Amino acid sequence: MRIDLHTHSTASDGTDSPAGLVREAAAAGLDVVAITDHDTTAGWAEAAAARPAGLTLVRGMEMSCVGRGVDGYPVAVHLLAYLFDPADRGFAAERERLRAERVQRLRAMAELMAADGLPVDPDAVLASAGPAAGRPHLARALVEAGVVPSVDAAFADLLSSNGRYYVEKADTPLRRAVEMIAEAGGVSVLAHGRARSRGRLLDLREVRDLVPYGLGGLEVDHPDHSASDRTVLRELARECGLLITGSSDYHGVNKTIGLGDCTTEPDQFEKLVGRSAGVPVLAS
Ligand code: AMP
Ligand code: FE
Ligand code: FE
Ligand code: ZN
Repeated sequence: MRIDLHTHSTASDGTDSPAGLVREAAAAGLDVVAITDHDTTAGWAEAAAARPAGLTLVRGMEMSCVGRGVDGYPVAVHLLAYLFDPADRGFAAERERLRAERVQRLRAMAELMAADGLPVDPDAVLASAGPAAGRPHLARALVEAGVVPSVDAAFADLLSSNGRYYVEKADTPLRRAVEMIAEAGGVSVLAHGRARSRGRLLDLREVRDLVPYGLGGLEVDHPDHSASDRTVLRELARECGLLITGSSDYHGVNKTIGLGDCTTEPDQFEKLVGRSAGVPVLAS
């Protein structure tokens, strides 16, 4: 069983359409794939309709949150949400708010660049990005305009969270996000909690605080995690009785990671499904 529980499509900042994503997942030999676009369920229906026979589809999302950093200051945190009811009113409203933040924030970054003389057209970037606009959309525009050679190069400098064009957005407080996902019948899993290259890190003591509110698991195996960080996260999950997942965080050609580059153990996946009460997995 090859299980990949974290992937992105063109519904957010991936480059495969939702239909293309499930076809690629089957072609890559996966048995289970989760579609987890940023702050949106917009890809669910197309992925479900295109699901090849034999591939199990998990409908999920990656939610933009804010937690407490190791330095005590707020830090951006991603929280995976699986198998929740998309019709839950409070959660649906929060997703909509997060998408509005994304659009407003990306426009602000693009406008700062344009005002600085960079060949970036904010309207064109926003039009190509769609409702779950993210920095990778701006990165591609910078590559196409010849400003930087690659998406990675754009993130290393112009789009960096320490960079001069970075604009914050108002993401969901982590504890509230965990509660909302549980209220919608979903299972929450902290995404790439030790992806050091992305900037400042979450204080892992906050993980313990989230358990009573319904946190479900930790993403331990992730391409951005070192071996020693995986050990720390695995031990923490065991101590707290949390599920352990592994996933690629595939973004199509926006990243060099392939589908199935990290995977989840079948027993952990079965427990995750068993704890959900929103929508079912789509199988057979
Ligand atoms: P945003 O959601 O707009 O803050 O942008 C963050 C997104 O950019 C995340 O989904 C990451 O997957 C992606 N990202 C971060 N660093 C890189 C990188 N070096 N190359 C490509 N994508 C990246
Ligand atoms: Fe992304
Ligand atoms: Fe993420
Ligand atoms: Zn992701």
